[in-house]
Amino acid sequence: MTAFSLDPAQTAWCEELRTLALDRLAPLAARGEPGHVNRPLLAALGELGLLDRLFGSGALDLCLLRESLARGCTEAETALALQGLGGFPVLRSGTLAQRERWLPEVRAGRAVAAFALSEPGAGSDAAALALDASPDSGGWRLTGEKCWISNAPEADFYTVFARTTPGARARGVTAFLVPADRPGLTGTALEMLSPHPIGTLALDGVRVTADDMLGEPDKGFAVAMDTLNLFRPSVGAFALGMARAALDATVEHTATRTAFGGPLSGLQAVSHQVAEMATRTEAARLLVYAAAAAHDAGEPGVPRRAAMAKLYATETAQFVVDTAVQLHGARALRRGHLLEHLYREVRAPRIYEGASEVQRTIIAKELYANREPTA
Ligand SMILES: Cc1cc2nc3c(=O)[nH]c(=O)nc-3n(C[C@H](O)[C@H](O)[C@H](O)COP(=O)(O)OP(=O)(O)OC[C@H]3O[C@@H](n4cnc5c(N)ncnc54)[C@H](O)[C@@H]3O)c2cc1C
Repeated sequence: MTAFSLDPAQTAWCEELRTLALDRLAPLAARGEPGHVNRPLLAALGELGLLDRLFGSGALDLCLLRESLARGCTEAETALALQGLGGFPVLRSGTLAQRERWLPEVRAGRAVAAFALSEPGAGSDAAALALDASPDSGGWRLTGEKCWISNAPEADFYTVFARTTPGARARGVTAFLVPADRPGLTGTALEMLSPHPIGTLALDGVRVTADDMLGEPDKGFAVAMDTLNLFRPSVGAFALGMARAALDATVEHTATRTAFGGPLSGLQAVSHQVAEMATRTEAARLLVYAAAAAHDAGEPGVPRRAAMAKLYATETAQFVVDTAVQLHGARALRRGHLLEHLYREVRAPRIYEGASEVQRTIIAKELYANREPTA
């Protein structure tokens, strides 16, 4: 594939995924309880081989998976992505024993994974994290709080990032795999606007040893960034999938809804807005695919391109979903309508995995670092 088009096999795979999402996964999602992990849905993602595909994929496959699932069923998309976020640190930095214990269960959709980086005092500034790891008879005791953790408190294990060297910011963080049944670990669910499960974690002297470590001591920030760098363009792909779903619904609605003696699409004020939605969605698609392909090819400038893709796609999806609501009128706001659901879903990706402002900072930093000084 070039950065600009998919090959026929990739296009067919995306259609197949969208159909699976609509026909097989959306009915399971509808039976789930908002704010709670949907285990039957996860098991189906395992049985359909989609979680296997997730862990075998590069950034582009990950984007196509997330975009196509999001077009048909955002709950399935998010459940899949969260298995990746919690599971990739184990895949890439875990010991053989950790990988053998957890990854087959994660891939089957039987073990629920979570990624616990954020804290009340450390969100965008993740290197400020303070969850304390104090040395204790050959291991450590973890004490502190994590918040806004997707899948908490119902996950089966957590990738926890803890402070092993005080005052060293990113250079003093260690990653641990903490099973949910470890004594001293508790959690509380939070009710959020976005429908997926999120909670806080409280760690009260939770004992961990070198066998629980992911990677090396004080190198845990690199474990987090390794996963986040892979996932950043794919957050854009999730947003893109939502934008495409909203656009498809709007084309259909405005072509068939009549007012003032004709279809809404006959009003130029309407059709031009639909054209704008389509143009921005297409631009987002190109940025996301190009950033993902650059990541997979090991090209330079990946942080900037991934940041541009995440920034533009998430901001575009917000615009497209909001405009879709406007052009549907009251029906879009009825509880249970596709757009009512997307309107709630589309907001959070502009904040997590680096808020839009943080993406602009990444882009600007690279531009100025690469500036050719004038004589
Ligand atoms: C739905 C959802 C799911 C999440 N899931 C997880 C998870 O699974 N694991 C996890 O660890 N965390 C998770 N998070 C937390 C997420 O990573 C943080 O919310 C994010 O890092 C921002 O941190 P914060 O909310 O503390 O905002 P703050 O860091 O307090 O920032 C608030 C706002 O200030 C502005 N701002 C911040 N920094 C800058 C800057 N450098 N320049 C300009 N403006 C700036 C931005 O507008 C930003 O939105 C989740 C969040 C949400 C909403």
